[in-house]
Amino acid sequence: DDAPRPEPLDVLRTVFGYESFRGEQAEVIQTLVDGDDALVLMPTGAGKSLCYQVPALVRPGTGVVVSPLIALMQDQVDALSAAGVRAGFLNSTQAPHERREVERALLAGELDLLYLAPERLRVPDTLALLGRARLALFAIDEAHCVSQWGHDFRPDYLQLTVLHERWPDVPRIALTATATAATREEIAERLELTDARHFVASFDRPNIQYRITDKASPRQQLVDFLRAEHDGDAGIVYCLSRASVEQTAEHLSAHGIPALPYHAGLDAQVRARNQARFLREEGLVMVATIAFGMGIDKPDVRFVAHLDLPKSVEGYYQETGRAGRDGLPATAWLTYGLQDVVQQRRMIESSEGDAAHRRRLGTHLDAMLALCETASCRRVQLLAYFGQASQPCGNCDTCLAPPETWDGTVAAQKLLST
Ligand code: ADP
Ligand code: MG
Ligand code: ZN
Repeated sequence: DDAPRPEPLDVLRTVFGYESFRGEQAEVIQTLVDGDDALVLMPTGAGKSLCYQVPALVRPGTGVVVSPLIALMQDQVDALSAAGVRAGFLNSTQAPHERREVERALLAGELDLLYLAPERLRVPDTLALLGRARLALFAIDEAHCVSQWGHDFRPDYLQLTVLHERWPDVPRIALTATATAATREEIAERLELTDARHFVASFDRPNIQYRITDKASPRQQLVDFLRAEHDGDAGIVYCLSRASVEQTAEHLSAHGIPALPYHAGLDAQVRARNQARFLREEGLVMVATIAFGMGIDKPDVRFVAHLDLPKSVEGYYQETGRAGRDGLPATAWLTYGLQDVVQQRRMIESSEGDAAHRRRLGTHLDAMLALCETASCRRVQLLAYFGQASQPCGNCDTCLAPPETWDGTVAAQKLLST
């Protein structure tokens, strides 16, 4: 009774307007189209969404996407609708009449994709609703949220085995950008993805140059760095506090570098306007807390600077990963000093949660410190954190100026100048 299925490559070209698949997208998509399960680890920006969107369009029925990023669902659905894909979402931000319309469309077979917040699947009505629909696949996005050891645990993700139990024949795909080998095993186990094919992309971003420098007067160091290397470039500067965001944005502007602030304390309208300007105009610097960046897809971000130490290597990797999406050279620049360590340890001590939680935060911080303190290649250290072995890159600060050599030079200069 099924109409002939379209080819994935035709869907990619006619619906999404792209010429060819990237990396392992084609293999992942074929796995789902064949009705098998997949576990996908790809860095942010690699193109995980198409891995479930295309098979949802190829297979009959609706693809159900579980995502914790409620704030992005409207944008995603709008973007899909603009491409002619029939998409909807169910989450707590919706008015009842909007929800009813999505439910009606689902049951009428008028949806290609349905985005769901994970807590929806605890509601028996939602499961009953899905039970009356024809389902193409389940996609579990941000799958690392199932890990209690990770940085982003969502208890609702533990319930997602219900999908497999109630719909054993519907293929599942779990996707994440942040996973060590241990987390990957944990995801597979907790989501009962026993027979899933694993697809692990390289996490290397060869065009990003990693640099970590001693913190003295960070705002001035930032100005010097930008003037010397990124004059007129678009970039993101991350600061820990809202006050520091404001002061840094003012400092840059006062030094002739066009900068805008972004943090959760700003008026929603101001935030939206600053974000829109950053995306649209050329050569703007966004000074922000980590509230900024999720779902931002600007290809020509030439640098990401951190004035304060990130809390984890995962966070550092995600944030720096917003640089150089276009593949052209980009810089990840961080200033770091003892004060950062003191401040972060204090924040951990006073954080909510039990002792085990604080220990986890401490472990994340220690890994970040190890990256700052390493005398060998930053990239090797970073990739090793994600379970990937590599050779010294020749394009990070420690490769370009090995700390020993540098110390020797300083010592020699001191000798010469006395
Ligand atoms: P991820 O979820 O892995 O972070 P996304 O799915 O959001 O990444 O994709 C990032 C960007 O890459 C999007 O703008 C997307 O349209 C683009 N993209 C993905 N796959 C391709 C492709 N095969 N060809 C061209 N652009 C692609
Ligand atoms: Mg994604
Ligand atoms: Zn290196």
